[in-house]
Amino acid sequence: MTANLIDGKAVARQIEAAVVAEIQRLGYAPGLTAVRVGNDPASEVYVRNKAKKADELGLRGTQRIFPAELSEAGLLAEVAALNADDEVDGILVQLPLPKHIDARKVIDAIDPTKDVDGFHPFNVGLLHLGRPSLVPCTPAGVMRLIDSTGVKIEGAHAVVIGRSDIVGKPMAALLLQRSATVTICHSRTRDLGSVIHQGDIVVAAVGRPLLVTGPMIRPGAVVIDVGMNRVEVDFADRLAHDPDKLRTLAKNGSVLVGDVDFVRAREVAGWITPVPGGVGPMTIAMLMQNTVTAAERRRR
Ligand code: NAD
Repeated sequence: MTANLIDGKAVARQIEAAVVAEIQRLGYAPGLTAVRVGNDPASEVYVRNKAKKADELGLRGTQRIFPAELSEAGLLAEVAALNADDEVDGILVQLPLPKHIDARKVIDAIDPTKDVDGFHPFNVGLLHLGRPSLVPCTPAGVMRLIDSTGVKIEGAHAVVIGRSDIVGKPMAALLLQRSATVTICHSRTRDLGSVIHQGDIVVAAVGRPLLVTGPMIRPGAVVIDVGMNRVEVDFADRLAHDPDKLRTLAKNGSVLVGDVDFVRAREVAGWITPVPGGVGPMTIAMLMQNTVTAAERRRR
């Protein structure tokens, strides 16, 4: 059996088209401000891509970029100014922040109605009460990918690997809300493989390259790989069975792999996301959707 591929780019395009239509209906361009502190290269790319996508879809995307030395008080003042600015519908503070800034304080300071990342404790509480408002973008995107397969979530056993506040926990809450039976695995889980094998739906959000192997997958399962791990030539042996990745590795000196051994899992699963081109494009699309939702609610 070879699993069907879940095309994250195609599903993301559908969501983006819906966002464009919603903006036209609204008759104004919702404002999204992304705040970046310091020069982390990955954050630079993420923030730039988010602002670019916002502009492309007809939102007003703005970047606010500060040096790594910005004080915590300075960042809190910036958040307060954005909270008060009526032109700003969505605020996103790119993580990680420099060590001298307490990210929790900053997230707590964002107006929950503008919290398009869905990280504010108020929005987290609503999600866990089954009253989702602004939902974290990556797990929200994963739900859309699972739905795109047509596989029924209700009653299915969903295994989520990872318990971070950003992915694992909200992922489990969303699946539970759709009446899946949910198991959450983490770094202390005993016999990970046998737990994963129970999953009709498996969501891997760990950050460990190829942690999930083929034999762990239940035949026919839906496998969603959130992991994004850049590996270098010392990892080549582990990719010996994956000529596509090996080719990219040889060409670029590094290659992006997921938490799932894609080649082996694909031989067993019913549906699977590639890395890249699976969950990644969905995260930005859901951020745009959240910004439109925030704008609609604030201006209602
Ligand atoms: P995190 O480091 O905050 O959390 C990782 C979780 O994995 C922890 O809860 C930990 O308990 C668990 N874990 C660690 N080792 C384990 C093991 N051996 N067995 C079982 N569980 C283990 O990471 P995160 O922010 O949740 O991100 C996870 C991955 O998803 C990363 O690769 C990240 O780059 C990726 N990610 C991708 C997107 C996207 O848009 N595609 C968005 C967010 C995160």
